[in-house]
Amino acid sequence: MQIQPILQTWGRVLTGRVPNLSIEITRECPLRCPGCYAYEDNHLGGDTNLRSLTDYKGDDLVRRVLSLVDEHKPLHLSIVGGDPLVRYRELEIVLPQLAERGIHVQVVTSAFRPIPTQWATLPRLRMTVSIDGLQPEHDLRRKPATYERVLRNIEGQHVAVHCTITGAMVRRAEYLRGFLDFWSENPNAEKIWFSIFTPQIGADSVECITADERTRVIQTLLDLRESYPKLDMPEGMLKAFLAPPHSPEKCVFARTTRTISADFKTHVEPCQLGGAPDCSRCGCIASMGLSAIGNHKLLGPLTAGSIFFASASIGDAFKRSRNRKLPEHPSPKTDTELITIDQNPKREVA
Ligand code: SF4
Ligand code: SF4
Repeated sequence: MQIQPILQTWGRVLTGRVPNLSIEITRECPLRCPGCYAYEDNHLGGDTNLRSLTDYKGDDLVRRVLSLVDEHKPLHLSIVGGDPLVRYRELEIVLPQLAERGIHVQVVTSAFRPIPTQWATLPRLRMTVSIDGLQPEHDLRRKPATYERVLRNIEGQHVAVHCTITGAMVRRAEYLRGFLDFWSENPNAEKIWFSIFTPQIGADSVECITADERTRVIQTLLDLRESYPKLDMPEGMLKAFLAPPHSPEKCVFARTTRTISADFKTHVEPCQLGGAPDCSRCGCIASMGLSAIGNHKLLGPLTAGSIFFASASIGDAFKRSRNRKLPEHPSPKTDTELITIDQNPKREVA
Protein backbone atom coordinates (compact mmCIF):
# COMPACT_ATOMS: atom_id res chain seq x y z
CA MET A 1 0.00 0.00 0.00
CA GLN A 2 1.32 3.44 -0.95
CA ILE A 3 1.56 5.61 2.17
CA GLN A 4 2.11 9.06 0.64
CA PRO A 5 -1.31 9.42 -1.04
CA ILE A 6 -2.98 8.20 2.15
CA LEU A 7 -1.16 10.81 4.24
CA GLN A 8 -2.04 13.53 1.70
CA THR A 9 -5.70 12.47 1.77
CA TRP A 10 -5.67 12.33 5.55
CA GLY A 11 -4.25 15.86 5.75
CA ARG A 12 -7.05 17.20 3.56
CA VAL A 13 -9.77 15.37 5.44
CA LEU A 14 -8.48 16.69 8.78
CA THR A 15 -8.87 20.26 7.56
CA GLY A 16 -12.37 19.62 6.19
CA ARG A 17 -11.28 19.54 2.56
CA VAL A 18 -12.27 16.99 -0.06
CA PRO A 19 -9.30 15.37 -1.82
CA ASN A 20 -11.10 14.19 -4.97
CA LEU A 21 -13.04 16.25 -7.47
CA SER A 22 -15.23 15.00 -10.28
CA ILE A 23 -16.64 17.26 -13.00
CA GLU A 24 -19.45 16.39 -15.38
CA ILE A 25 -17.85 18.53 -18.01
CA THR A 26 -20.70 18.47 -20.52
CA ARG A 27 -24.35 17.54 -20.64
CA GLU A 28 -23.92 16.14 -24.14
CA CYS A 29 -23.35 12.57 -25.22
CA PRO A 30 -23.95 11.00 -28.62
CA LEU A 31 -24.83 7.67 -26.99
CA ARG A 32 -27.98 6.48 -25.22
CA CYS A 33 -26.69 3.57 -23.15
CA PRO A 34 -29.34 1.59 -21.26
CA GLY A 35 -28.80 1.96 -17.49
CA CYS A 36 -26.79 5.20 -17.80
CA TYR A 37 -27.12 6.88 -14.41
CA ALA A 38 -26.07 10.35 -15.62
CA TYR A 39 -29.31 10.83 -17.55
CA GLU A 40 -31.69 9.38 -14.96
CA ASP A 41 -34.29 11.95 -13.95
CA ASN A 42 -33.24 11.80 -10.28
CA HIS A 43 -29.48 11.99 -10.97
CA LEU A 44 -29.36 15.62 -9.86
CA GLY A 45 -31.91 15.24 -7.08
CA GLY A 46 -35.12 15.53 -9.08
CA ASP A 47 -35.48 19.30 -9.60
CA THR A 48 -33.59 19.21 -12.86
CA ASN A 49 -31.64 16.74 -14.98
CA LEU A 50 -28.34 16.73 -16.80
CA ARG A 51 -29.84 17.39 -20.23
CA SER A 52 -31.61 20.53 -18.97
CA LEU A 53 -28.57 22.10 -17.31
CA THR A 54 -26.64 24.95 -18.83
CA ASP A 55 -23.24 23.76 -19.96
CA TYR A 56 -20.21 25.56 -21.32
CA LYS A 57 -17.86 25.49 -24.28
CA GLY A 58 -14.65 27.03 -25.50
CA ASP A 59 -12.63 29.46 -23.38
CA ASP A 60 -15.47 29.74 -20.89
CA LEU A 61 -15.30 26.02 -20.13
CA VAL A 62 -11.50 26.02 -19.94
CA ARG A 63 -11.56 28.91 -17.48
CA ARG A 64 -14.26 27.31 -15.33
CA VAL A 65 -12.49 23.95 -15.08
CA LEU A 66 -9.15 25.51 -14.17
CA SER A 67 -10.58 27.92 -11.61
CA LEU A 68 -12.59 25.13 -9.96
CA VAL A 69 -9.44 23.03 -9.78
CA ASP A 70 -7.39 25.92 -8.43
CA GLU A 71 -9.98 26.52 -5.78
CA HIS A 72 -10.35 22.92 -4.62
CA LYS A 73 -6.76 21.82 -5.28
CA PRO A 74 -7.76 18.16 -5.58
CA LEU A 75 -5.25 15.34 -5.49
CA HIS A 76 -7.32 13.52 -8.10
CA LEU A 77 -9.74 14.82 -10.72
CA SER A 78 -12.25 12.73 -12.69
CA ILE A 79 -13.62 14.26 -15.86
CA VAL A 80 -16.88 12.62 -16.81
CA GLY A 81 -20.02 13.61 -18.64
CA GLY A 82 -22.02 13.16 -20.77
CA ASP A 83 -19.00 12.18 -22.79
CA PRO A 84 -15.94 14.38 -22.18
CA LEU A 85 -14.71 13.79 -25.75
CA VAL A 86 -17.62 15.97 -26.91
CA ARG A 87 -15.39 18.76 -25.54
CA TYR A 88 -12.06 17.38 -26.78
CA ARG A 89 -10.91 20.79 -28.08
CA GLU A 90 -11.23 22.30 -24.62
CA LEU A 91 -9.57 19.25 -23.06
CA GLU A 92 -6.62 19.69 -25.39
CA ILE A 93 -5.98 22.97 -23.55
CA VAL A 94 -7.03 21.86 -20.07
CA LEU A 95 -5.24 18.50 -19.76
CA PRO A 96 -1.66 19.78 -20.24
CA GLN A 97 -2.35 22.51 -17.69
CA LEU A 98 -3.62 19.97 -15.17
CA ALA A 99 -0.51 17.89 -15.82
CA GLU A 100 1.64 20.95 -15.04
CA ARG A 101 -0.24 21.35 -11.75
CA GLY A 102 0.74 17.77 -10.80
CA ILE A 103 -2.86 16.56 -10.52
CA HIS A 104 -3.81 12.96 -11.26
CA VAL A 105 -6.57 13.05 -13.85
CA GLN A 106 -8.95 10.42 -15.14
CA VAL A 107 -11.09 11.03 -18.24
CA VAL A 108 -13.95 8.55 -18.62
CA THR A 109 -15.19 8.14 -22.18
CA SER A 110 -16.92 5.79 -24.58
CA ALA A 111 -14.15 6.58 -27.14
CA PHE A 112 -16.78 7.42 -29.75
CA ARG A 113 -14.14 9.62 -31.40
CA PRO A 114 -10.34 9.31 -31.55
CA ILE A 115 -8.42 10.07 -28.37
CA PRO A 116 -5.87 12.73 -29.40
CA THR A 117 -2.45 11.10 -29.89
CA GLN A 118 -0.59 13.64 -27.74
CA TRP A 119 -2.64 12.70 -24.67
CA ALA A 120 -0.86 9.34 -24.56
CA THR A 121 2.28 11.04 -23.23
CA LEU A 122 0.70 13.38 -20.68
CA PRO A 123 1.89 12.48 -17.18
CA ARG A 124 -0.64 11.37 -14.55
CA LEU A 125 -3.47 11.10 -17.12
CA ARG A 126 -5.57 7.95 -17.20
CA MET A 127 -7.97 7.52 -20.10
CA THR A 128 -10.70 5.10 -19.06
CA VAL A 129 -12.83 3.61 -21.82
CA SER A 130 -16.22 2.14 -20.94
CA ILE A 131 -16.89 -1.16 -22.68
CA ASP A 132 -20.22 -2.92 -22.10
CA GLY A 133 -19.18 -6.55 -22.51
CA LEU A 134 -18.24 -8.45 -25.65
CA GLN A 135 -18.80 -6.99 -29.11
CA PRO A 136 -22.39 -8.16 -29.85
CA GLU A 137 -23.76 -6.85 -26.54
CA HIS A 138 -21.57 -3.75 -26.49
CA ASP A 139 -22.45 -2.70 -30.04
CA LEU A 140 -26.16 -3.00 -29.31
CA ARG A 141 -25.89 -0.87 -26.19
CA ARG A 142 -23.23 1.64 -27.24
CA LYS A 143 -23.78 2.45 -30.89
CA PRO A 144 -22.19 4.62 -32.37
CA ALA A 145 -19.20 3.79 -30.10
CA THR A 146 -19.02 0.25 -31.50
CA TYR A 147 -16.07 -2.11 -30.93
CA GLU A 148 -14.81 -1.38 -34.44
CA ARG A 149 -14.75 2.33 -33.74
CA VAL A 150 -13.34 2.04 -30.21
CA LEU A 151 -10.50 -0.20 -31.38
CA ARG A 152 -9.59 2.41 -33.98
CA ASN A 153 -9.97 5.36 -31.60
CA ILE A 154 -7.67 4.00 -28.87
CA GLU A 155 -4.77 3.23 -31.26
CA GLY A 156 -1.46 4.33 -29.70
CA GLN A 157 -3.00 4.88 -26.24
CA HIS A 158 -2.61 2.95 -22.98
CA VAL A 159 -6.17 3.04 -21.71
CA ALA A 160 -7.92 1.33 -18.84
CA VAL A 161 -10.87 -0.67 -20.13
CA HIS A 162 -13.77 -0.49 -17.70
CA CYS A 163 -16.71 -2.86 -17.93
CA THR A 164 -19.81 -2.67 -15.76
CA ILE A 165 -21.03 -6.19 -15.07
CA THR A 166 -24.76 -6.65 -15.59
CA GLY A 167 -27.20 -9.50 -15.04
CA ALA A 168 -26.94 -10.65 -18.67
CA MET A 169 -23.16 -11.06 -18.35
CA VAL A 170 -23.18 -13.13 -15.17
CA ARG A 171 -25.79 -15.51 -16.59
CA ARG A 172 -23.52 -16.56 -19.46
CA ALA A 173 -20.81 -19.07 -18.71
CA GLU A 174 -17.25 -17.84 -19.16
CA TYR A 175 -18.40 -14.41 -20.31
CA LEU A 176 -15.89 -12.53 -18.16
CA ARG A 177 -13.08 -14.83 -19.21
CA GLY A 178 -13.96 -14.13 -22.86
CA PHE A 179 -13.84 -10.40 -22.13
CA LEU A 180 -10.46 -10.72 -20.44
CA ASP A 181 -9.13 -12.86 -23.31
CA PHE A 182 -10.11 -10.21 -25.84
CA TRP A 183 -8.82 -7.15 -24.03
CA SER A 184 -5.66 -8.78 -22.66
CA GLU A 185 -4.60 -9.26 -26.28
CA ASN A 186 -5.06 -5.59 -27.15
CA PRO A 187 -1.77 -3.66 -26.82
CA ASN A 188 -3.61 -0.33 -26.30
CA ALA A 189 -5.41 -1.64 -23.21
CA GLU A 190 -3.07 -1.38 -20.25
CA LYS A 191 -5.49 -2.28 -17.48
CA ILE A 192 -8.88 -3.95 -17.21
CA TRP A 193 -11.35 -2.96 -14.51
CA PHE A 194 -14.83 -4.21 -13.62
CA SER A 195 -17.61 -2.57 -11.70
CA ILE A 196 -20.95 -4.17 -10.95
CA PHE A 197 -24.11 -2.35 -11.96
CA THR A 198 -25.34 -0.21 -9.01
CA PRO A 199 -29.11 0.29 -9.03
CA GLN A 200 -31.11 3.01 -7.40
CA ILE A 201 -32.99 2.00 -4.24
CA GLY A 202 -35.92 -0.25 -5.20
CA ALA A 203 -34.87 -0.66 -8.85
CA ASP A 204 -35.16 -4.09 -10.44
CA SER A 205 -33.99 -3.62 -14.01
CA VAL A 206 -32.39 -6.28 -16.24
CA GLU A 207 -28.97 -4.80 -15.42
CA CYS A 208 -29.27 -5.80 -11.73
CA ILE A 209 -27.59 -8.92 -10.36
CA THR A 210 -28.74 -10.93 -7.35
CA ALA A 211 -26.78 -11.32 -4.10
CA ASP A 212 -25.89 -14.94 -5.04
CA GLU A 213 -24.71 -13.83 -8.47
CA ARG A 214 -22.58 -11.13 -6.85
CA THR A 215 -20.87 -13.70 -4.63
CA ARG A 216 -20.23 -15.97 -7.61
CA VAL A 217 -18.93 -13.19 -9.83
CA ILE A 218 -16.48 -11.99 -7.19
CA GLN A 219 -15.20 -15.55 -6.70
CA THR A 220 -14.80 -15.79 -10.49
CA LEU A 221 -12.79 -12.56 -10.58
CA LEU A 222 -10.66 -13.68 -7.62
CA ASP A 223 -9.79 -16.80 -9.65
CA LEU A 224 -9.30 -14.95 -12.95
CA ARG A 225 -6.95 -12.33 -11.51
CA GLU A 226 -4.37 -15.08 -11.03
CA SER A 227 -4.09 -15.68 -14.78
CA TYR A 228 -4.87 -12.27 -16.31
CA PRO A 229 -2.22 -9.72 -15.21
CA LYS A 230 -4.06 -6.82 -16.86
CA LEU A 231 -7.02 -7.38 -14.52
CA ASP A 232 -5.98 -4.64 -12.13
CA MET A 233 -8.16 -5.45 -9.14
CA PRO A 234 -6.35 -6.46 -5.93
CA GLU A 235 -7.79 -9.18 -3.74
CA GLY A 236 -8.78 -6.71 -0.99
CA MET A 237 -10.73 -4.60 -3.47
CA LEU A 238 -12.59 -7.61 -4.86
CA LYS A 239 -13.47 -8.81 -1.36
CA ALA A 240 -14.82 -5.32 -0.56
CA PHE A 241 -17.56 -5.92 -3.17
CA LEU A 242 -18.94 -8.59 -0.82
CA ALA A 243 -19.60 -6.04 1.94
CA PRO A 244 -20.35 -2.63 0.40
CA PRO A 245 -20.65 0.43 2.67
CA HIS A 246 -24.02 0.60 4.49
CA SER A 247 -24.73 4.17 3.48
CA PRO A 248 -23.13 7.20 1.82
CA GLU A 249 -21.99 8.36 5.28
CA LYS A 250 -20.00 5.13 5.61
CA CYS A 251 -18.61 5.33 2.07
CA VAL A 252 -15.06 6.68 1.93
CA PHE A 253 -15.47 7.39 -1.80
CA ALA A 254 -18.62 9.48 -1.30
CA ARG A 255 -17.02 11.37 1.58
CA THR A 256 -13.79 12.13 -0.22
CA THR A 257 -15.20 13.09 -3.61
CA ARG A 258 -17.06 16.23 -4.61
CA THR A 259 -18.93 15.95 -7.91
CA ILE A 260 -19.94 19.10 -9.76
CA SER A 261 -22.27 18.93 -12.73
CA ALA A 262 -22.13 20.68 -16.10
CA ASP A 263 -23.43 24.06 -14.89
CA PHE A 264 -20.50 24.26 -12.41
CA LYS A 265 -22.97 24.90 -9.61
CA THR A 266 -25.04 21.77 -9.07
CA HIS A 267 -23.53 19.15 -6.76
CA VAL A 268 -24.17 15.49 -7.57
CA GLU A 269 -25.03 13.71 -4.34
CA PRO A 270 -24.63 11.53 -2.38
CA CYS A 271 -21.93 10.20 -4.71
CA GLN A 272 -21.05 10.36 -8.38
CA LEU A 273 -24.08 8.15 -9.19
CA GLY A 274 -26.52 10.74 -7.91
CA GLY A 275 -30.16 10.13 -7.01
CA ALA A 276 -30.74 7.52 -4.30
CA PRO A 277 -28.23 4.76 -5.03
CA ASP A 278 -28.63 1.44 -3.28
CA CYS A 279 -25.39 1.21 -1.28
CA SER A 280 -26.19 -2.38 -0.26
CA ARG A 281 -25.90 -3.29 -3.97
CA CYS A 282 -23.09 -0.88 -4.81
CA GLY A 283 -20.66 -2.19 -7.38
CA CYS A 284 -18.60 0.94 -7.99
CA ILE A 285 -14.92 0.05 -8.35
CA ALA A 286 -13.83 3.42 -6.92
CA SER A 287 -15.89 2.91 -3.78
CA MET A 288 -14.60 -0.65 -3.34
CA GLY A 289 -10.99 0.42 -3.90
CA LEU A 290 -11.28 2.99 -1.12
CA SER A 291 -13.18 0.54 1.12
CA ALA A 292 -10.30 -1.88 0.72
CA ILE A 293 -7.88 0.80 1.88
CA GLY A 294 -10.27 1.60 4.74
CA ASN A 295 -10.28 -2.08 5.78
CA HIS A 296 -6.49 -2.15 5.94
CA LYS A 297 -5.32 -2.80 9.53
CA LEU A 298 -2.76 -0.26 10.68
CA LEU A 299 -2.22 -1.23 14.29
CA GLY A 300 -3.98 -4.13 16.04
CA PRO A 301 -7.71 -3.77 15.34
CA LEU A 302 -7.26 -0.12 14.25
CA THR A 303 -8.09 0.24 10.54
CA ALA A 304 -7.31 3.06 8.10
CA GLY A 305 -11.11 3.47 7.79
CA SER A 306 -11.64 4.09 11.52
CA ILE A 307 -8.92 6.76 11.43
CA PHE A 308 -10.49 8.26 8.31
CA PHE A 309 -13.97 8.60 9.83
CA ALA A 310 -12.55 10.07 13.06
CA SER A 311 -10.49 12.52 10.98
CA ALA A 312 -13.53 13.41 8.88
CA SER A 313 -15.46 14.34 12.05
CA ILE A 314 -12.57 16.56 13.13
CA GLY A 315 -12.45 18.04 9.61
CA ASP A 316 -16.20 18.75 9.66
CA ALA A 317 -15.84 20.56 13.01
CA PHE A 318 -12.84 22.50 11.66
CA LYS A 319 -14.81 23.50 8.57
CA ARG A 320 -17.81 24.62 10.62
CA SER A 321 -15.61 26.80 12.82
CA ARG A 322 -13.84 28.22 9.74
CA ASN A 323 -17.18 28.96 8.03
CA ARG A 324 -18.41 30.78 11.15
CA LYS A 325 -15.53 33.20 10.68
CA LEU A 326 -16.59 34.09 7.11
CA PRO A 327 -17.95 37.63 6.63
CA GLU A 328 -21.74 37.65 6.86
CA HIS A 329 -22.41 38.98 3.37
CA PRO A 330 -19.46 38.22 1.13
CA SER A 331 -19.81 39.38 -2.43
CA PRO A 332 -18.66 36.58 -4.70
CA LYS A 333 -17.04 37.60 -7.94
CA THR A 334 -16.92 34.30 -9.75
CA ASP A 335 -19.07 31.20 -10.01
CA THR A 336 -16.43 29.14 -8.21
CA GLU A 337 -16.58 31.50 -5.26
CA LEU A 338 -20.35 31.08 -5.37
CA ILE A 339 -19.95 27.33 -5.14
CA THR A 340 -17.84 27.57 -1.99
CA ILE A 341 -20.07 30.02 -0.21
CA ASP A 342 -23.28 28.28 -1.25
CA GLN A 343 -22.24 24.98 0.34
CA ASN A 344 -24.98 23.80 2.64
CA PRO A 345 -23.24 21.51 5.16
CA LYS A 346 -26.21 19.14 5.09
CA ARG A 347 -25.76 18.59 1.37
CA GLU A 348 -22.03 18.07 1.45
CA VAL A 349 -20.40 14.69 1.10
CA ALA A 350 -17.46 15.57 3.29
S1 SF4 B 1 -21.54 7.07 -22.92
FE1 SF4 B 1 -21.63 7.35 -20.72
S2 SF4 B 1 -22.71 9.29 -20.42
FE2 SF4 B 1 -23.10 8.65 -22.55
S3 SF4 B 1 -25.07 7.56 -22.41
FE3 SF4 B 1 -23.41 6.05 -22.25
S4 SF4 B 1 -23.08 5.75 -20.05
FE4 SF4 B 1 -24.24 7.67 -20.33
S1 SF4 C 1 -20.37 4.87 -4.17
FE1 SF4 C 1 -20.74 4.91 -1.97
S2 SF4 C 1 -22.50 6.25 -1.69
FE2 SF4 C 1 -22.43 5.67 -3.85
S3 SF4 C 1 -23.76 3.86 -3.99
FE3 SF4 C 1 -21.69 3.13 -3.68
S4 SF4 C 1 -21.54 2.87 -1.44
FE4 SF4 C 1 -23.30 4.18 -1.81
